[in-house]
Amino acid sequence: MHIHEYQAKSLFRQFNIKTPEAVLIDHVSQAKNACSSLGGELWVVKAQVHAGGRGKGGGVILCRSIKEVEKACNQLFGSNLITPQTDVKGLPINQLLIEGGQNIERELYLGLLVDRQTQKITVLASTEGGMDIEKVAAETPDKIIKFGVDPLGNLTTEDCLSIAEKLNLEGDLAKQFSNALIGLYVIFTTKDVSLIEINPLITTAENNLLALDGKIDFDDNALYRHEDIVKLRDTSQEDEKENEASEHQLNYISLDGTIGCMVNGAGLAMATMDLIEHHGGSPANFLDVGGGTTAERVAKAFELIQTEANVKGVLVNIFGGIVRCDLIAEGILQAIEKVGLNLPIVVRLEGTNAPAGLKLLDDSDCDIHTEADLTQAAIKIVALAKGVSA
Ligand code: ADP
Ligand code: MG
Repeated sequence: MHIHEYQAKSLFRQFNIKTPEAVLIDHVSQAKNACSSLGGELWVVKAQVHAGGRGKGGGVILCRSIKEVEKACNQLFGSNLITPQTDVKGLPINQLLIEGGQNIERELYLGLLVDRQTQKITVLASTEGGMDIEKVAAETPDKIIKFGVDPLGNLTTEDCLSIAEKLNLEGDLAKQFSNALIGLYVIFTTKDVSLIEINPLITTAENNLLALDGKIDFDDNALYRHEDIVKLRDTSQEDEKENEASEHQLNYISLDGTIGCMVNGAGLAMATMDLIEHHGGSPANFLDVGGGTTAERVAKAFELIQTEANVKGVLVNIFGGIVRCDLIAEGILQAIEKVGLNLPIVVRLEGTNAPAGLKLLDDSDCDIHTEADLTQAAIKIVALAKGVSA
């Protein structure tokens, strides 16, 4: 689960990581008061969306008067922000953070993640923070400092101070850095975080170290033990279809190909996607309808796939182990009755009651292609989907 910058910063403050003064608003009429309460002559208007790269997408606007702040708010509120990290539709801007403009001296990078290779929580730090950190990591990886924390030990003040030294931070700034890094580590370990990042972590002309941005991703599997974190969820930033699917216990992930897939079991779903690619197609989604699925759930899954705009054909691949293939066939027919069938569909059923399921489909009035062999099914749907798009 992702959260917004303002929410990450609020957590930062609870763990003694300093952030600039800021006010969250959800309407332009609150902009003037926000600026007055912050004071100063420089403000930054920041779109709150679940994506980075906002600066590059025009979602971070530096303003030198209240008029400019209001203009920026009018421009951003109600629109979608497209950044290098969003899809072409972008994400809706419902809230803006008005922040005091800072006298930035240096922009550093500081983050923590689980490094699966070393099996350690790893600190990543760089003197080259800011909007081009991805480029730094790709082109000059030696500029990224890595420090693995002993899983049986702890992150110590000495560790933090030695990282501070590598970042050329001295005196009080090194101390502030050490406090901030310990704070990040405590959030990471107590809140079941998978990624936490401050980019940029700035030093100011006043010798302060501040988190100017904040990103935290939480491990979904551990959310059940963090009620406070679950409350921070903002579904307006999430994929509607993925949310609808999860309400029906379906594992659904939107992709950008043209062949909708409905499969039971995550492994079989991935193998099916590979086979589609192998035969020259590309999957429009990952969908695992689960083991003990029902006709209603299949109908819902089918509806989700069919209403995805880029889908040109649907491949159903079910191995009936626990689930009965005739039930799946009923679900498909129910879904077609409800939402119609305007795309070519290939169904491969194998396992429990497969003959009965295939017969149900063959006997129906719907134009459904049935295949017993998975390779044949993949080849057929790739050809049919290309026919439709041509
Ligand atoms: P993103 O990473 O999504 O582009 P950031 O919050 O990191 O958004 O902002 C992008 C850049 O804008 C920062 O690297 C910094 O240079 C500038 N910036 C952001 N907030 C402020 C602020 N309060 N004062 C001055 N500059 C800022
Ligand atoms: Mg940033």
